[in-house]
Order: sequence, then C-alpha cells, then structure tokens
Amino acid sequence: MNLEAKFKQTLKKINPGKKEKILVALSGGKDSSVVAYLLKKFGYNIEGFHIDLGMGDYSRKCLEAAKKLCSQLGIVLHIYDIKNEMGSSMCYIRSAIQAGHGKGLKNCAICGVIKKWIMNREARKLNADKIATGHNLDDECQTFLMNILKGSPQLSANSGAITRNIEDRKFITRIKPLFYIAEEDIREYSKKKELPVVYEKCPCALDSYRIQTRQFTNSLTTKEKENFMKNFDRLSDRIEKLKTEHKLNYCEICGEPSRNKICRMCQLVRK
Ligand code: SF4
Ligand SMILES: [Zn+2]
Repeated sequence: MNLEAKFKQTLKKINPGKKEKILVALSGGKDSSVVAYLLKKFGYNIEGFHIDLGMGDYSRKCLEAAKKLCSQLGIVLHIYDIKNEMGSSMCYIRSAIQAGHGKGLKNCAICGVIKKWIMNREARKLNADKIATGHNLDDECQTFLMNILKGSPQLSANSGAITRNIEDRKFITRIKPLFYIAEEDIREYSKKKELPVVYEKCPCALDSYRIQTRQFTNSLTTKEKENFMKNFDRLSDRIEKLKTEHKLNYCEICGEPSRNKICRMCQLVRK
C-alpha cells in the first residue's frame, strides 16, 4: 500500500469531520509538512501552527520552511514566538531547568512538555477542534519500546492515531495521521513532492536513550514496525487498565488540563 493510501486508511480510523478546524503543528520538518500537505489535498479544513523556539539558525530555517509551505498550500499560519511569549529561547529555558530542579531531565523531555502545553492552550484560543502532529511509525515504535523498557507501558495508554480516553472541554484532541507510516517513506514522499522542508536534525536532540532505541528500530523492516504497532493497538485496552490515574483535573497554577494538582509544565517552569 502506498503512503497516500495508508494515510487515508488512518484518517478513516481517526474520522475527522471535513468542517472541523484542524491545527497542524508545523515544525518545518518533513513529517508535519507531509501531514499538512495531505490533509489539504484531501479537502480538510486546516491551519498551520509553528512554535519559533528561538534556537538560532536552525529555528530561522524552520520558520521559513513553515511560512513557505503555508503560502504554497494557501493556508493561514499562526506563529508563536517563544522569546516574545515566555521571555527566553527554548535553549535558555531548558538550561535553567536542568541547572535547577530538573537535573538529569533530557532536552526533548523538557521541550516536549512545554510545546504540548503551548499547543493545547493556543489551539483552544484559536477554536481548533483537533491538533494534528507529524509523529510517524518510527517515533511511535521508539516511544512504546522505551516505555516498556522503562517498565512503564501505562505511559502509552492515551497514545494512538488519535488520543484516547481523554474527553475534557479544555483538552484539544490530538491526531497523528502518520502513525502507521515509516519515516523513510515520508522522507521519500516529501522529496518527491519537493516540499519546503528542513532535513537537518534539531541541534538539541540529544536524548541518548531514544538514539539507542532508534538504532534498534532502524534495524527493523517497515513490516516489522507495522506489526509492532498493530500489536500495540490490540493491547491498548489492557495497557489502559494499568493506568492509576484516570481523571483529568485542572492545574492549580495555570488552569490547564492535568492529571496532577500541578501540571508538568508548571512543575518544570515555576519551581
Ligand atoms: S528534537 Fe527535542 S529539543 Fe529539538 S525541537 Fe524536538 S523536542 Fe525540542
Ligand atoms: Zn500548570
């Protein structure tokens, strides 16, 4: 099955309405660009959202790529400039956390929490119905594997092509239309379509555990990776039962949806 057919099949599972507003989290990289390109091609109502992380030349190139793509697709691009909004670049915020109470936390773990928090809040302000991200089959295999190896498979409980088990007026559903598509195929497709994309890796992606896991998933065939995630789908109900906390509260500091009294973002940033 080719990439477009797999994409359509995943959309069937996600079942977004054609009138729903889907905000695509555009990083400037190949994955999210392909998501935007294909959602637009198949007639969905999309807008782009880019977080400018202020990480020097790399971020400048990513912003340019996102702008170019949105202008080619004829869609609106919302830009969140982290320096303007939060007072510092991601590098600075991250280093400050790691130098204080977040010693030992990985770059991507911190950046990921902050980006998710921003995305949910801004998507809500923009009245979006869904947030689409570029997570692909390789990313999802790695995450699931890492959670199993760490002895915490329940961390994958809400994962899937569409976030599961979370219904809350303040939580915007996240969808991953590339959930079953291998990274290699996405790279090839983005090149074939000549999408304006930054192919270089983020200079801060230094999570050694993920790099090790990636080396393993890179040694697998696409079929093996697909089987891995199909089994994940089959096991997802049982994984859900491993969760200890089911209810979503609101963070006492920022008011955003959270499983604890204080959300992970506020635990990171406000201590
Ligand atoms: S690779 Fe890691 S540090 Fe770089 S933008 Fe992504 S989450 Fe942030
Ligand atoms: Zn909070």
